[in-house]
Amino acid sequence: MQRPVSTRNAHSALNGSWKSENDVSTSSTVFKKQCVAVDHVPEQYRERYLTRGYRQPYSSFLDCLVSIFRLNNETFNVWTHLLPLVCLLLYFKQTFPCELWPVTKINSWYYPLLSDEMSIIAYHLGSVAAHAFNCMSPRVRHICFFVDYAAISMFGIGGACANIYYLRPLNTSFFFLNSPNLFVGAAAIFNVMAVYLCCSSRHRWEKSKYLVRTLAFALPFFVGNLPSYYRILSCVFMGDECTTALLCLVLGSLGYLVAAVLNSTRFPESRYKSTFDICGHSHQWVHTLTTLGTFGHILGIQLEIRDRSEQLNVLLDSITFYSSLGWALATLVIGVALALWFGSKLTVEGYLRTERDKVVGNKIE
Ligand SMILES: [Zn+2]
Repeated sequence: MQRPVSTRNAHSALNGSWKSENDVSTSSTVFKKQCVAVDHVPEQYRERYLTRGYRQPYSSFLDCLVSIFRLNNETFNVWTHLLPLVCLLLYFKQTFPCELWPVTKINSWYYPLLSDEMSIIAYHLGSVAAHAFNCMSPRVRHICFFVDYAAISMFGIGGACANIYYLRPLNTSFFFLNSPNLFVGAAAIFNVMAVYLCCSSRHRWEKSKYLVRTLAFALPFFVGNLPSYYRILSCVFMGDECTTALLCLVLGSLGYLVAAVLNSTRFPESRYKSTFDICGHSHQWVHTLTTLGTFGHILGIQLEIRDRSEQLNVLLDSITFYSSLGWALATLVIGVALALWFGSKLTVEGYLRTERDKVVGNKIE
């Protein structure tokens, strides 16, 4: 077990190029413009294979805001989700089939769509905030990503709700696909487990943490998408109708699949060191591909709602606020509570504290 150096020791070990969190309150408000190399930031800030373009550790809230308009290794991480967030908000506002306010007046038929779209907004927003403000301190950095994982888990449930209510096959005896509450409940449990695993991975499993995080969300994602996989397979192998909606879903899933491969392999920066530090590293591709995948998913859902509303009318009674949006919000609340619980166990330097107030000494991202 490796014991981490204290903030002060780390400070001197790194040639005095960054301040401890305690110094932040006395920090000047002058914007910190300069990017630094990997050996000038504490271990908690380091991204595997990225050698340059780090923002100054212990930046202020304002510094972080300004930094998204300057080139550093988080700039495109922010913009690859911020621009799509704006586009998605406009698109959702334009295409939602009824008035969104008051929520209680929305036809319950559209609750799963609303929960899907809200969860898509949540995961983009969580990601933008995490990437923008993660250099405020090691502890804030971890908490930012803990909350980001919680928002992703909400996306898992929002998608699962839309999939089971709008995409489910009507000609199957598969019990799991005929029980929306059981289906969404199981997806919620898997998503909460994924948040726990991902939060844990920031202080464990140093060598395989990216793989752990990818697999942690791959399982709930797979479960939540079972209705669409069933429909796609039955169109290919059982002669059921192959619709444009299914094609959108296939393309969307391909986007997610490639994103998962890049996230776990960290390609291209793992192969071409220092070349993609600022622009083109794997996380930016992961953002772009997941957003494109999400767009394929939501397009497929919207087409299914349009084309199958009469067929699916039999399901209307089973859709309530609690069986759709309620699950998504509950998962988000549990995820955020988990994130705060993990955050409460961190020292100022961002290390896990044990019951004896000792530091657990694994290397941390
Ligand atoms: Zn991200």
